[in-house]
Amino acid sequence: MAHALEAIGISKSYEAEGRISVRVAVLNGLAFHADANEFVSFVGPSGCGKSTLFNIITGLLAPDEGSILIDGRETTGTTSRKVGYVLQKDLLFPWRTVLDNVILGLEILGRPRAEAREQARDMLKLYRMEGYENKYPSQISGGMRQRVALMRTMITDPQIILMDESYKALDYPLKIALEGELLSVVRREKKTVIFITHDIEEAVTMSDRVYVMKARPGEIVNEIKVDLETDSPLIPERRMSRRFNDYYDMIWRNIGIEPVI
Ligand code: ADP
Ligand code: MG
Repeated sequence: MAHALEAIGISKSYEAEGRISVRVAVLNGLAFHADANEFVSFVGPSGCGKSTLFNIITGLLAPDEGSILIDGRETTGTTSRKVGYVLQKDLLFPWRTVLDNVILGLEILGRPRAEAREQARDMLKLYRMEGYENKYPSQISGGMRQRVALMRTMITDPQIILMDESYKALDYPLKIALEGELLSVVRREKKTVIFITHDIEEAVTMSDRVYVMKARPGEIVNEIKVDLETDSPLIPERRMSRRFNDYYDMIWRNIGIEPVI
């Protein structure tokens, strides 16, 4: 069976700033896949091309070489409804209420507003945000805003969810709570997740498989299958797995970050 998503030989370079035109290779021959219901992470240092890669997967950016296949079909350079994107920052519209932020994706798909709102209300209950329908983003916490951003993506029912450092700016207890929630949601809704992070601990606790990247040019240096020997979606429990440190160590050695002191 075809992979839910497959990337073949993705390369991308940018024109460097300056008087002499030089092209800088950002991604170099990336090949990877994600299967149905799989949680796959990309971990790598800042600047290794993770966000560029996501823009290529969503079709916002064309690669110089290579192709993206979804369910075995070439989709390079086009946006697919099967793919939902949760951005690095929660980026809610401040002038829209929580409810109207959640329905945004449905509006773009042309669904009638009343019907979309009904669906969003049910979803808010499911995500334990009942009563916040008419609040504005500035009136809710950072964790709730992130939850709204996830709902906004989930409501259009994509098969594959891309998440770009979604929990980066949150403090630790909130981060692990939201990570656990995300694992429960994507398992229940049977989604494939491709998750970008520079946080090795986050990659190990969340993923079925991890691709490790290095920078300049961005390349995959290793692929690690993670088995923490627990099905629990609770992050502290996953973190306590006696295998955790081995995976952490393996990834740390692969990334090869040079200390900046
Ligand atoms: P990451 O998300 O891993 O931090 P990015 O994909 O954002 O990395 O960026 C990878 C590299 O490409 C960086 O060196 C960045 O400066 C460069 N870059 C990103 N976008 C552009 C652009 N539009 N034009 C030129 N260079 C860019
Ligand atoms: Mg980035």
